[in-house]
Amino acid sequence: MPSETQQDEIPKGEKLYEGKAKVLFQGEEEGTIIQYFKDDATAFNALKKGTITGKGIINNKMTELIMINLERIGIPTHFIKRLNDREQLVQHVEIVPLEVIVRNVIAGSMAKRLGIEEGTPLARPIIEFSLKDDDLGDPLIAEEHVLSLELATDEELSEIFDMTHQINDFLRGLFAGIGIKLIDFKLEYGRIYDEDGIGYRLILADEFSPDNCRLWDIETNKKLDKDRFRHDLGGEVEAYQEVAHRLGITL
Ligand code: UDP
Repeated sequence: MPSETQQDEIPKGEKLYEGKAKVLFQGEEEGTIIQYFKDDATAFNALKKGTITGKGIINNKMTELIMINLERIGIPTHFIKRLNDREQLVQHVEIVPLEVIVRNVIAGSMAKRLGIEEGTPLARPIIEFSLKDDDLGDPLIAEEHVLSLELATDEELSEIFDMTHQINDFLRGLFAGIGIKLIDFKLEYGRIYDEDGIGYRLILADEFSPDNCRLWDIETNKKLDKDRFRHDLGGEVEAYQEVAHRLGITL
């Protein structure tokens, strides 16, 4: 089990938001936020609740590693630096109210909705959108909804497609290199405004961890992600640790 090292208390501002797996605090510097990663786990729109011991530390460190690597290939992200085991400093963005889902292999809600067996590979990756609204259970929406409901502009949508494909290509390779198939994952993007408050750019926000992706061992198809918790498969702590270990993350 990861041991939590005692670290200096980071001066935090006001609590801005408490989500299911993270708490957001105002950062010391204007325009920054501190993301605190909890061990709390939820599934099925929070109908199932529990904890995965040490998950917050793993998700914090894994998000750091992924964001740094994505920056290296030219994807702008909100990540600034990791502060300690459970906290990272990020840029304050205006979240685009979309869950951007990428699928390489059919699983989860898509398998259920279309009656296709989990594990069936797709001829090409799918990028789909859900409206980010917990009360509605994040309903699946079409690109046309995104535009007509003005959730994002045409230009933003094409940037989202471009960046998301690049991220998928890169991460599939990264995980294949450590014997893991990247089945699907969820991304969120945010707008960061210029000083004039008019111009802005789109950057990757939120997190990347086994909480919001599906990772299967290449040889055995063993699930190494939150599905272990969702479906009471057991061994979720060990699965998260296994992914961290293969990525070379020190806990
Ligand atoms: N996902 C997520 N947050 C959500 C919904 C989905 O992080 O609110 C992730 C999920 O972990 C999986 C991918 O997006 O890696 C596709 O999820 P799916 O639509 O299959 O829904 P699920 O079966 O997780 O309800």
